[in-house]
Amino acid sequence: MGIEQKAGNMGVVTARLEDVINWSRTNSMWPMLFGLACCAIEMMAAQAANYDMSRFGMELMRASPRQSDLMIVAGRVSRKMAPVLRQLYDQMPSPKWVIAMGDCASCGGVFNNYAVVQGVDEIVPVDVYVAGCPPRPEGLIHGVMTLHEKIKQEKLKTWA
Ligand code: SF4
Repeated sequence: MGIEQKAGNMGVVTARLEDVINWSRTNSMWPMLFGLACCAIEMMAAQAANYDMSRFGMELMRASPRQSDLMIVAGRVSRKMAPVLRQLYDQMPSPKWVIAMGDCASCGGVFNNYAVVQGVDEIVPVDVYVAGCPPRPEGLIHGVMTLHEKIKQEKLKTWA
């Protein structure tokens, strides 16, 4: 009989530290309130009763970057807004993640012109891209689930 099984019989669960930390991070994300355009309406819908993102520990949209660890860029980013977006990202404590929600945030979408950033990854590192114009709430939730899977693979040595 192995030590794990003995411990299990006594009601003790063993796990690796990085698994526990990653699990807690995926279940307590605080997204920043950062709707920029029409995609934000679907982001709000994802928070409301029908889709209920609070199921994933995300019921608190924070109005301050200092209390947020997830930036959901929901909508097109104008060139004037780009430095503000970067400043907000820099004010978020690490570890932090970014979801580009919708075609505009991912690649400029229908706004192929000089005034709009052609993909928010020009400004901040993006972890997950969610396609659509706008993506439905299910699409955003799928993006969040994809981010969770990514975080679960993070290693201790990458946290520095
Ligand atoms: Fe609006 Fe479509 Fe751009 Fe989203 S992707 S901000 S819905 S135009």
